[in-house]
Amino acid sequence: MSEFRTGNGADWLDLLATLLGRFRSRQVEMLPDAAALRAWFAEHGMEPAAEVTVADLTAARALREALHRAAVATLDERPVDARDLAILQDALAADQGVDVHRDGTRLQLDRPADAAVALAWLARQAALDLTGPTRERLHACGDATCSGIFIDHTGRRRWCSDERCGVRSRVRAHRARARERSSG
Ligand SMILES: [Zn+2]
Repeated sequence: MSEFRTGNGADWLDLLATLLGRFRSRQVEMLPDAAALRAWFAEHGMEPAAEVTVADLTAARALREALHRAAVATLDERPVDARDLAILQDALAADQGVDVHRDGTRLQLDRPADAAVALAWLARQAALDLTGPTRERLHACGDATCSGIFIDHTGRRRWCSDERCGVRSRVRAHRARARERSSG
């Protein structure tokens, strides 16, 4: 597992996980600059042919937060905010079909022309997952202070990360029980 892979089940959900702590007082930004965004694209097999610019970074973060709010609204069965819908639609408008070529014994995806196309691919994944059968398998992390969203194929998964969120929740529950015992 590399630092940008989360096991959340889709590239666009990996993108959402590049901002940690949305529901906490302190956030951790894992895409601090354009170079980090390029590295993230490369790790997900969609490194753009063109340079990744600061404007691309701004667009990626705006799309990421719009997708997160849209996913949370979908999970809560609330309508998606009109501004977030517009951001998603704008991203989709840059979409281009994918093409493949042979690289020895493997098939390789042709690189997206630029970051806008790569973001459109992520927006397309999100649009399909939020509207199709995958929607029923999307879940928010069982830790209410975590903004992680994941696809559950088992029907039993509770945390976006068992090591991080599962352990933290168990520790919290243990402390709460200990407090109850000492005060009772
Ligand atoms: Zn979590």
